[in-house]
Amino acid sequence: METLLIAGGRVIDPASGLDAVADVAIAAGRIVEIGPGLTRLPAARVVDASGCIVAPGLIDPHVHLREPGGEHKETLATGSRAAVAGGFTTVCCMPNTVPALDTPELLAFIAARAEATAACRVFPIGAATKGRRGEEPSEIELLAGAGAVGFSDDGDCIASAGLMARLLAAIAPTGLAFMQHCQEPTLTRGAAMHAGEVSVRLGLGGWPRAAEEIIIERDLRLNRGPRCRYHVQHISSEDSVDLIRRARAAGQPVTAEASPHHLLLTHEACDGYDTSAKVNPPLRERRDVEALRAGVADGTITVLATDHAPHAADEKALAFEEAPFGLVGLETALSLYAEALVATGAIAWPRLIALLTVEPARLCGLLGRGLGTLGVGGAADVTVIDPDAPWTITPADLRGRSRNTPFLGRAVRGRAALTVVGGVVRHDLAAARG
Ligand SMILES: [Zn+2]
Repeated sequence: METLLIAGGRVIDPASGLDAVADVAIAAGRIVEIGPGLTRLPAARVVDASGCIVAPGLIDPHVHLREPGGEHKETLATGSRAAVAGGFTTVCCMPNTVPALDTPELLAFIAARAEATAACRVFPIGAATKGRRGEEPSEIELLAGAGAVGFSDDGDCIASAGLMARLLAAIAPTGLAFMQHCQEPTLTRGAAMHAGEVSVRLGLGGWPRAAEEIIIERDLRLNRGPRCRYHVQHISSEDSVDLIRRARAAGQPVTAEASPHHLLLTHEACDGYDTSAKVNPPLRERRDVEALRAGVADGTITVLATDHAPHAADEKALAFEEAPFGLVGLETALSLYAEALVATGAIAWPRLIALLTVEPARLCGLLGRGLGTLGVGGAADVTVIDPDAPWTITPADLRGRSRNTPFLGRAVRGRAALTVVGGVVRHDLAAARG
């Protein structure tokens, strides 16, 4: 394994409070030294990071890798290639595969496939209910012991309040987080996009904000006793942000994540029946976008997550009502977060790095494994970011198996220049450009 010296960058490690120009020396898969003037050290390879940010490897706690059962959309191999191209060194894969990740054997399958085929670290989220059928809890303790780093039925909400209460009680002792896909299903039957002026104009079934807010309110109430770590996935509405804000102020163990598309786009993106903008929960209105950014700025929303959801081109080519929900995000997320949050002045780069490293590491219990931080002696997962690099998103920039994103053709700034996973360079923008 090569020795590597990342020299002269602005090293930002929010977990330790480090923010200084320094060199990072890597050998045998570990960080061996961080400090100024390490250029004296013998290194097989020196990377000039001047003008760049050197951060802990980015972590995405919410991706869909489609393996097993949906390999025509994505696999651990292709999805992890997309991840490292976007600067991510760790992703957590959702359990809505076929079959669902609801047994220790299936979690072991993911671990084995990750080891054999993935370009980055992959940790599984365990299915909260057997078969993701929303009927009875899966074997929570067993799955926690078998490597699940959280629980969710993502793709579907735990609709039953009784079942939700049992799950919160069962998951709390594991110390892991329950991640809710907040969608009251009787309010979204036949819905294809946000309920508003655009859905009326297009004649499409509308999806009200209340479908999300009702579930958050209900779950916060149910969780007063168990005090399970409760996490709201892909938050989309203004009032949802306010619910989380008040619950956190009251000391409830609740977190929330925002996705790039909800931080930038509105329901107008669905105009012309553009299925690349069909996503669950739907793109909403300007005031929701502003509320999400304000929620990030004031610390209500502490995690960013792509909800990378690959779909084949022929599936997204269906009529709007029939096309599947979701869009890919791993390769483009960093630039889009920077546009939505840093360029607007909502937060500065150090906080953005925190939202992508220490915060998701905490959510998924990965800090104890040395991930989400730059520690001497720890795993050499490092992302070098050129914060000003201008580029235009093209299909050739997408390294996963699917191309479904409404951001193709968008001019953006900021990009992962180098992604190092366990001391191995897995993405090198300069080399990729030739
Ligand atoms: Zn979801």
